[in-house]
Amino acid sequence: MSRPKDKICFISIDAEHDYGSEHEKTFYGAERMDEVLDIFRREGISATIFVTGEVLERYPSQVRGWAENHEIGCHSYSHTYFDLMHVSGIRKELDSFVHLYKKVLERSPLGFRAPSHVIDNAAIRTASEVGFYYDSSVVPHYPPFKKYRGYFGGAPKTPYYPNEIAYKKAGDMNILELPVTGHFFGIPLAGAWIRRLPPSLYRFLFALHKPQYVSLSFHSWDGFYDDKFTEKLSLILDLLKGHGYQFKRGDEIFNEHISKN
Ligand SMILES: [Zn+2]
Repeated sequence: MSRPKDKICFISIDAEHDYGSEHEKTFYGAERMDEVLDIFRREGISATIFVTGEVLERYPSQVRGWAENHEIGCHSYSHTYFDLMHVSGIRKELDSFVHLYKKVLERSPLGFRAPSHVIDNAAIRTASEVGFYYDSSVVPHYPPFKKYRGYFGGAPKTPYYPNEIAYKKAGDMNILELPVTGHFFGIPLAGAWIRRLPPSLYRFLFALHKPQYVSLSFHSWDGFYDDKFTEKLSLILDLLKGHGYQFKRGDEIFNEHISKN
């Protein structure tokens, strides 16, 4: 149980087809996830792994193995961007995912993250209707020199219930938003940035400012683009630990949030 002053780092991995393999999907990153999960094991970290239905379909026993130490959330079925689909298509993606999840893991998923963080009011409402307890798609910080496909403005930087007609504002929807919050200046603790930035920059940022809530996320394939990815990740995990951050899964943050409010 966290104390109110505890600093939280929501830690997650999106497990999906390899980047750039949309036409003939490959899943080498997902197949090699154990390499990065070994780091988590050594550090005693339990994370949320948002998997696509395609990963669940191809690697059910591997996902069952991940589920022994981590939460398994939903990252849609096919990773098609939601702005390319009608709401009925989104509903179908989520329903098929939940159906398969129940078959493989014999329980229901709690958390959801939209492909590439492309989300809107209708998609959040659909996720809530399908039965998800939390969403983690909103990126409230805008990295000044990178355009997220799904990002269009500010939002609360700590967990909040979205407004029914304006999801980037707090309201009373029946689904908790766990925003993907980085550091100030919009520098996120996310795979693409961990690959490009030296860990010393994060050391500098956290020396200046330690937000109460941050999230760290990356993809199953991030390690392919940087031989030093796992090394950098370990350094950043140690940095966060040294600053007193507790690593949490989405379901833990959700449960603590509802017990406090
Ligand atoms: Zn993704």
